[in-house]
Amino acid sequence: MAMSEDPPKGKKLPLYDESALPYEHPLYKTLLSVPGLSVAVAPLDMILQWGMTNALWIFPMATSCCGIELMAAAASRVDLDRMGTIVRATPRQADVMVVAGTITVKMAPRVKTLWEQMPEPKWCIAMGSCAISGDFYRNLYSVIPGIDTVLPVDVYIPGCPPNPEGLMHGLMRLQEKVKLAREGGLPTREENPALLDLTRPSVMRFKDPARDPSVTLAQEEAALHATAQDSSDERPVDGPAATFAPAEARAPEVDGEFEAILAGEFGVTELPKDAPPIVEAARHVALARRLRAAGYRQLVLVAATHYPEKTGAKAQAERFEVTYGLRTVGARSRLALWRVCLAPGEPVDTLVGVFAGADWQEREQFDLLGVTFAGHPDLRRLMLSGDWQGHPLRKDYPADKACAPWR
Ligand code: SF4
Repeated sequence: MAMSEDPPKGKKLPLYDESALPYEHPLYKTLLSVPGLSVAVAPLDMILQWGMTNALWIFPMATSCCGIELMAAAASRVDLDRMGTIVRATPRQADVMVVAGTITVKMAPRVKTLWEQMPEPKWCIAMGSCAISGDFYRNLYSVIPGIDTVLPVDVYIPGCPPNPEGLMHGLMRLQEKVKLAREGGLPTREENPALLDLTRPSVMRFKDPARDPSVTLAQEEAALHATAQDSSDERPVDGPAATFAPAEARAPEVDGEFEAILAGEFGVTELPKDAPPIVEAARHVALARRLRAAGYRQLVLVAATHYPEKTGAKAQAERFEVTYGLRTVGARSRLALWRVCLAPGEPVDTLVGVFAGADWQEREQFDLLGVTFAGHPDLRRLMLSGDWQGHPLRKDYPADKACAPWR
């Protein structure tokens, strides 16, 4: 293209001599007439690649502490927006799922369903050692040993937690990977057999060639029916309706010492130094009512413990202990704790009729330890999926129990 010569004085210098152009196009002519605009020509694929790599929208699968670092990455210091990465609250508009935190067996099918809802092309970043391998929870009954046992992971960001700059670095590595893939290359796989063996999860990784295809099919099936399996969550309460004690005027102070009530009205005189006093199971609801009337208005604790059978010098029969805690509200708050001892299978009366907050707390103990609360209006699992086998906080429950198809 030749430059025009000798521009008349006082007139703008044209950039190009348009008469020398081999073709004419109205858009091109318009672009050339925009002051200060430079026109560059590039292959379409390069432009698409540039657009793809600089608009990696994140779907945040943030489940625990690493999620805080993910949130911080969007704030002003790191400011992920400057590389075109924004967080979207729907999988349908996202390109990258960032798994930041521990994924449990109950959550895994939901995560997989959300992944399936993301349009192609899509990528996954495992942020932090919990998402990579399960970390300290790796052998725990309820945690999957890494998100890559369920989804294909593109970039792993190590750390506990990785900081926001780590996430930005991971996104830049993902940009490189996307470019490489569009140019027809592929990242090299880890080939060190010792390392591969050391890092092998109990369920083979999603992209591992040695993975049994039936595991993938089972995971997909479980993800598709996750809600149906757990429909207990939506079931109406089918037990007897809870009867709540009428609200009473708040007592500003307790009208008697907890110990005095225990000794004088319930015949409990033994007060161990290292544990709450034991109250007869048949009378503990009456005690809760009495304490509520005395000013202990808040139920703060229902916690069960399993003691397996022991033989030998310290022989003891198997038992469960349920500890209850109430407190007064306001200044100089006071705490009242007591225990109820139960034989295996023996129920204890529910406190739901006295304190509404006992509902979920008792369900949690039923779920994790199998303690039965007689008269509870809706006694079913709370934390684990409805089809879970056994009660994992019993001492005889194996910690690293397999739970197909997730761990
Ligand atoms: S890797 Fe560490 S910081 Fe991240 S979720 Fe796990 S325990 Fe929390």
